[in-house]
Amino acid sequence: MILLDDVTLTYPDGDSRVTAIDHVSLEGRPGLVTGITGPSGSGKSSLLALAATLARPDTGRVVVDGVDATGLSAAGRTALRRERIGIVFQQPQLLPALTAREQLCVMAELGGRGRRARRAAVRGRVDELLDAVGLGDHADRRPAQLSGGQRQRVAIARALVHEPRVLLVDEPTSALDSTRGAEIMALLSRLTRERDTATLLVTHDLVHAGALDATVEVVDGRASLVASPV
Ligand code: ADP
Ligand code: MG
Repeated sequence: MILLDDVTLTYPDGDSRVTAIDHVSLEGRPGLVTGITGPSGSGKSSLLALAATLARPDTGRVVVDGVDATGLSAAGRTALRRERIGIVFQQPQLLPALTAREQLCVMAELGGRGRRARRAAVRGRVDELLDAVGLGDHADRRPAQLSGGQRQRVAIARALVHEPRVLLVDEPTSALDSTRGAEIMALLSRLTRERDTATLLVTHDLVHAGALDATVEVVDGRASLVASPV
């Protein structure tokens, strides 16, 4: 579960501050994809940054899988992300020198306690995850040898390596044609159900509304629920 409770986010703007997110509340439940739509500049990525605990809210609180991030230190938030949150950015952000399999294995090398145990667990999961995103035959390819859609699939598999309870995805189809985009959306919808993640997915393209279980529209930093789960 991911809960944003009355969050506000401002950015510095000269001598004053500009409000990007204005008292927004929303909840993402396990096994459901909650879509976040809205025009460019409306605050969608800012909302995701709050959910990811990458940005700190000016007001309100963010609760990730039962853990209130409000009082956590920077190190505490880093640990929370490492343990409970998977993030897929607009661009796949892969390391050019690494194969698809290595992009996932590298996640086991991030700091934190229990690294040895985590390394063994991750290695056991990597091939299964690459299969799950349809890249079982491409595990030894580097990013330059993969298409845009395949790179985004690697990024999705990588986000799931540590079995997060919360999956945050920002405009995953923006660089893809409509067929490839629809495939990525269907994949995210299936993985959300199979892995029971609470998924928040930013998309400005309502062509993909069919893959969303609920939709929240953000306009000028304010959110309204336009469709809720049945
Ligand atoms: P969206 O993802 O919906 O396009 P953003 O969350 O990126 O919107 O941006 C919302 C508003 O906040 C915009 O007016 C944008 O210019 C502003 N903004 C975003 N990031 C920053 C930042 N780091 N510093 C200052 N203003 C920002
Ligand atoms: Mg954005």
